[in-house]
Amino acid sequence: GEALAVSARVAPLGSRLVLLLVEDLTEARRIEAVRRDFVANVSHELKTPTGALSLLSEAVLDASDDQEAVERFAGRMQIEATRLTNLVQELIDLSRVQNDDPLEDAEPVRVDELVAEAIDRCRQQAGSKQITMASGGAADLRIWGNRGQLAAALGNLVENAVNYSPARTRVGIAARRVVVTGGDEIEIAVTDQGIGISETDRERVFERFYRVDPARSRATGGTGLGLAIVKHVAASHGGEVTVWSSEGQGSTFTLRLPEAGSARDRDRPSGGPL
Ligand code: ADP
Repeated sequence: GEALAVSARVAPLGSRLVLLLVEDLTEARRIEAVRRDFVANVSHELKTPTGALSLLSEAVLDASDDQEAVERFAGRMQIEATRLTNLVQELIDLSRVQNDDPLEDAEPVRVDELVAEAIDRCRQQAGSKQITMASGGAADLRIWGNRGQLAAALGNLVENAVNYSPARTRVGIAARRVVVTGGDEIEIAVTDQGIGISETDRERVFERFYRVDPARSRATGGTGLGLAIVKHVAASHGGEVTVWSSEGQGSTFTLRLPEAGSARDRDRPSGGPL
């Protein structure tokens, strides 16, 4: 309606301008729809743990003379509270990566430190599932970027690899330099021997709140925001994240990011490290 009315008014100005205006309106509507979906999704995701917490606290009050029931309900309250905390933290992370220009505080970031940090973050969970973590190739490599955001991105990939893998499997983190025209890049591949991702799901896992199996993801404390954060960090650094997977055999998520000190960042107007 609106778009047509506008196009009728400007029609004499030429069809190219009309087309541009219509495209603009369509894009504005698309952004608005995405924003509405996002708010609806957040509300829904918040309702699950808050609803459970309120029911459980009532149950605790009702069962106050049954010590065993109180303990059971309190345990479940703790799980729901953790879920809520994770969700809020990831929402904060997502809004941060969407709003801040990561290259404002860009610096050379050592890949071996990022890898060590990511492994550290999952050590406990990997240990309890007897998952072996191995890494290689990271020595002497540096990425040009925002340390906090890069750590969050790699941390999310390694966390997922551990989360979506059965016990006694292996998670590998391999880094290397890739020579490309316009500046070298650093590639970090996170490989697991987990459940894998089907071809249709592979296209969607980077969407906010998309989960292949919501029940399983919730059980591991997943929010559905991790890969959306990874994708945003990669893109805003001028890189990308891709996934390869074979169902039932495992997945590899590959991050490609600009190398510190390569031609591309020297060419930046603000000047990179030399
Ligand atoms: P979540 O918090 O649910 O892990 P993510 O955005 O990190 O959210 O991932 C989205 C979905 O992609 C997950 O719910 C899971 O279904 C799938 N996924 C992510 N990483 C892997 C992996 N390494 N192996 C299998 N499935 C994965």
